[in-house]
Amino acid sequence: MSYIDDVYTRVVEQNPAQPEFHQAVKEVLESIRPAVEKDEAKYRQLALLERLTTPDRQLLFRVPWVDDQGQVQVNNGYRIEFNNALGPYKGGLRLHPTVNLGILKFLGFEQIFKNSLTTLPIGGAKGGSDFDPKGKSDREVMAFCQSFMTELHKYIGADIDVPAGDIGTGAREIGYLFGQYKRLTNRFEGVLTGKGLEWGGSLARTEATGYGLLYLVNALLKDHADDLAGKTVVVSGAGNVATYAVEKAQQLGAKVVTVSDSTGWIYDPAGIDVALLKEVKEVRRERLTAYAAERDSAEYHEGRGVWAVKADVALPCATQNELTLDDAKQLVANGVKVVAEGANMPTTLDATKYLQENGVLFVPGKAANAGGVAVSALEMSQNSERLSWTFEEVDGQLKQIMETIYNNIATTAKEFGAEDDFVVGANIAGFLKVAEAVEAQGV
Ligand code: GLU
Repeated sequence: MSYIDDVYTRVVEQNPAQPEFHQAVKEVLESIRPAVEKDEAKYRQLALLERLTTPDRQLLFRVPWVDDQGQVQVNNGYRIEFNNALGPYKGGLRLHPTVNLGILKFLGFEQIFKNSLTTLPIGGAKGGSDFDPKGKSDREVMAFCQSFMTELHKYIGADIDVPAGDIGTGAREIGYLFGQYKRLTNRFEGVLTGKGLEWGGSLARTEATGYGLLYLVNALLKDHADDLAGKTVVVSGAGNVATYAVEKAQQLGAKVVTVSDSTGWIYDPAGIDVALLKEVKEVRRERLTAYAAERDSAEYHEGRGVWAVKADVALPCATQNELTLDDAKQLVANGVKVVAEGANMPTTLDATKYLQENGVLFVPGKAANAGGVAVSALEMSQNSERLSWTFEEVDGQLKQIMETIYNNIATTAKEFGAEDDFVVGANIAGFLKVAEAVEAQGV
């Protein structure tokens, strides 16, 4: 068996019942095969792939908190510090009832390569809890966050591990987490990103993932003698990534006709009204039914269905494995040209393969959604120099970073004989940088 097959078998055996982690490892290992085979003996001798697929540290802890009825609740807390070869551990905290060890290991593993692609000095990590902030009062969310940080603070720091937001963790949660870190350590430092603007946050961090996604798609289209003007775009999700992806797509002249949440989706042929979307989701924390109720041009549908809508560009911005082989077939039948992942691994492996085989330009999340964590790294820089940059400065750097990522993944793909295969390009480019750093730093 080849080295890669040996390592994959080992990952499956040593991490039972973690299908998402296996899937992410498989995607990376398969696509870096040509780079690994060039130097197989060396990598095998260094056990480099075993080291890259095994987290540096996995923290699991109990998170007790008191609900509004006075009942004590207990959730599971996690932080996977996967790899810090390139810089302090960096990655979000996901708060969602589906969170488990395997999902966080998949996300932490992906984060290593994504962070490598940003060009900035950050390692890979992920954490979170099976706590569901949906339907909880502010006081309950605060109680959970304080308890979560009471354990987590022992392991993090501005130069050690810097968590941030992800699904379920927004500005409110980051605030409560930061307050508790400060209370426990007496340190006011850039230990979290996505902070409020008055206390160390960065302008453009809120917009960064969605804007960055569109900057990358724009660079990709430009490279293929095309642009976004007049294109129809379908987006899934209605959270932070989706909202700002819709906003930037429309600023660049495209029309976005869908968004979705966990229970249904909107078809709005007049183009999604971003101001109303923000009002419903960010301010009122309501469902998309409220959007439909207030907008004549919008239809609300139960269940899932955005991938059946005809579009030139599809941007999955909800969650992992939301775009299946059947969805891919539907998109191809409808003439989609570009699929770029705003979420982490929203496309299943067989759907990705089908899209690529049918000539769709497919950009994996670790490149396409890297703008969020890139601006987090810029927030860390601003915190270190105790300054804050203007929106234009941060947004300009974000755009440049996304263009650099596109050029890097496109050039790497070409170098390895796989023109326009951005999975190969992203994984190999991300991997080589981390592998060199791991090797240089010794065993
Ligand atoms: N959760 C985001 C991601 O998946 C952002 C992480 C961060 O800013 O540290 O990349």
